[in-house]
Amino acid sequence: MNSDMITGIKENLQEIKKEIPENVTLVAVSKTKPIADIQEAYDAGQRVFGENKIQEMVHKYDNLPKNIQWHMIGHLQRNKVKYMAHFVDLIHGVDSFKTLKEINKQAKKHDRVINCLLQARIAKEDTKFGLLFSDIKEILFSEELSELKNINIVGLMGMATFTDNQSQLEEEFSSLAIFFKNNQEKYPKLKTLSMGMSGDYQLAIKNGSNMVRIGSSIFGVRNYIV
Ligand SMILES: *Cc1c(COP(=O)(O)O)cnc(C)c1O
Repeated sequence: MNSDMITGIKENLQEIKKEIPENVTLVAVSKTKPIADIQEAYDAGQRVFGENKIQEMVHKYDNLPKNIQWHMIGHLQRNKVKYMAHFVDLIHGVDSFKTLKEINKQAKKHDRVINCLLQARIAKEDTKFGLLFSDIKEILFSEELSELKNINIVGLMGMATFTDNQSQLEEEFSSLAIFFKNNQEKYPKLKTLSMGMSGDYQLAIKNGSNMVRIGSSIFGVRNYIV
């Protein structure tokens, strides 16, 4: 939608802010984008940013205002969790108990509690990462989880199939929203439902999302595929 713009980050942010309800958190996905672009969004009032590579996020954290909330939205390499444990605000893509254990271990070293979302597999295509609903339940209600004092599972995250098929997207989003709601009663810490990107965030919000991860509609198209 904004692929031909050069600047306009502030205007893009304002447009999107106007469209999304107040209870929906906007994560500005700044992966591959330079520090100057993030600074521009920051100057326009944006405070939550998402990155998908740990080293890149660390570099940006070191060079930008410290009141930015950094979200890790990419697939996690366990051996790199330690590099972000001192500052990461929310980790979206947790898809195994092993990873939770590693996050807990690193968080403990910094005397922090790190908020995490479990990534659910909702896309029909089998290239996407994520846990089955049954795996999520098993983790949430496991005895071992209650022993991990330095992590907090505060919600779920999902990525829909890359498609224009609206009814398929709707089905994928709503299946996760229903699962989310059904488990909130038994697991009241579940507050955040992270679904929706530039191409599908309106539909995601309509189907229960309260956190959207938007990159190209704010910063323009990325120069390379990540
Ligand atoms: C890149 C990315 C986004 C943002 O994608 P856009 O289509 O540019 O908005 C959202 N979520 C995840 C997990 C991503 O990797």
